[in-house]
Amino acid sequence: MDTACVIDLHAHTRASDGSDTPAQLLAQAAAVGISVLAVTDHDTVEAVAESQELGRSLGVEVLPGCEISATCANMVVHVLAYGPGLLEPATARTLVQYRDERMHRNEQLGARLHALTGVGLPDALAIAGPSRLSRAHFARALVSAGVVASIPEAFEHWLGPHAPAYVASPAMSIEATVRLVHATGGVLVLAHPGRIEAAARDRIVATAVAAGVDGLEVWHSEHAPEEQARWARHAKQGGLLATGGSDYHGLHKPGVHLGTGRDGNVAVPPPALAALRACLAALAP
Ligand code: AMP
Ligand code: MN
Ligand code: MN
Ligand code: MN
Repeated sequence: MDTACVIDLHAHTRASDGSDTPAQLLAQAAAVGISVLAVTDHDTVEAVAESQELGRSLGVEVLPGCEISATCANMVVHVLAYGPGLLEPATARTLVQYRDERMHRNEQLGARLHALTGVGLPDALAIAGPSRLSRAHFARALVSAGVVASIPEAFEHWLGPHAPAYVASPAMSIEATVRLVHATGGVLVLAHPGRIEAAARDRIVATAVAAGVDGLEVWHSEHAPEEQARWARHAKQGGLLATGGSDYHGLHKPGVHLGTGRDGNVAVPPPALAALRACLAALAP
């Protein structure tokens, strides 16, 4: 692909659980030849304005985005919201309200985990540093302390939904998320459907689409090529948008590269961006 049109519609900064500042992210974007980058931190748009400003001087167009956690058929899924309306103060406040409630949940989870393993909130916070705390940091703390040998083991034994330290995270319903985002003139895409537990996947995707989600994230660093082809067909057949991005988290997801994903497995085709733009233009208030 022409390096002049590398597109990445899914990337994180330190405003959520990435390791890069907006300046580091945009420098990296420019270095790898990205022309359009969506900044999609979890539950906040606080890095978007600064990223847009930096992007202007580097020749990188930054699209406002946000990765929202939503409940869908009794599971928590990630949905990517796109559109300038997300930056409206009332919308931005609603998003961070959930993020702040999630910190309270992390304190509860930390207390449970500490009672069970001796590893608690301070250990996870030390690993998270300036990043937004998530179970990923608790998992790394468990590995560091030698409680488990690996991250998957940390989730299996302690942190996963059926494990003893688990505390569910507060989240909006998918229906409420669709209402919130559509009211701002934004577009909503189900993130990385391939990462949804296999047994529930088809049901979750159908529920999200029925709730009004506009598209599916097809090209993603955790989707194998054949999965990408399958999700692209699914989107096309359903008349849905197909989007994609690396899901870059900097040092917190080693091996996932901005613009190109894991071992070059992400290449967002320009017509997918054109379709997203057309959908945003049609929904604009
Ligand atoms: P939280 O938002 O605090 O519930 O944490 C969610 C984060 O934990 C995700 O973004 C992943 O980084 C990580 N995570 C969740 N489940 C797993 C798993 N089974 N294996 C590895 N990482 C996981
Ligand atoms: Mn993340
Ligand atoms: Mn996600
Ligand atoms: Mn993400």
